[in-house]
Amino acid sequence: MNCPICSSKSEIYGKGVVLNKYEISYFRCSRCGFINTEKPYWLDEAYGRVVSDNQKFRAQQNVPIVISYIKEQLDPKGFYLDYGCARNAYFVEIMRKYCFKFVGYDKYEKVLDQYKGKLSRQFEMITSWEVFEHLPNPKEVVSEMLQYTNVIMIGTQRVQLNNPPKLNWNYFSRPSGRHISFYTMESFGILGKEFGLKVEKKDTKGYNRIVLYKE
Ligand SMILES: [Zn+2]
Repeated sequence: MNCPICSSKSEIYGKGVVLNKYEISYFRCSRCGFINTEKPYWLDEAYGRVVSDNQKFRAQQNVPIVISYIKEQLDPKGFYLDYGCARNAYFVEIMRKYCFKFVGYDKYEKVLDQYKGKLSRQFEMITSWEVFEHLPNPKEVVSEMLQYTNVIMIGTQRVQLNNPPKLNWNYFSRPSGRHISFYTMESFGILGKEFGLKVEKKDTKGYNRIVLYKE
């Protein structure tokens, strides 16, 4: 398999059991350290299951960092979109309480009407929480987002190039079967370069975020 980020050769990294029944392989890129699963044939089944989630907690955790970024770098009166907001669009709900013009978008879940938005205009920034680790095609999604914004903030736990995670890392999320892509800073750097974007870390304790932006 070739790395979906930098096209270098990915080598077998290990095996694990997803959804408590399918033994699958993980691959790791020899150049950028990006880790992904083999072709995820189990996703339909994975998304057909109900999983307990911590979306509300994650949403709250992202709010202060986003507000300060908007105030420092962007137009606080502009339009914003949360990509992959899920049905309840918690992050949109909270950002609206702070009077930011946020809408939510989700390709796979029906978003509550009052929060629902479309990719049909330019946005100051698109945020995306706990989405990129679900993507088989991250480049396509970045490319799609860039049609509508110059700034993307992504929340996903990263892996390290020189110290890859053990196979029992809980972010592999094997019982849910839904996490299939794991990025290093180098992966994001390569992704950014390909699209002419700068990359900046916005980590806080216990959570990793990056901003990709056009200068
Ligand atoms: Zn790579």
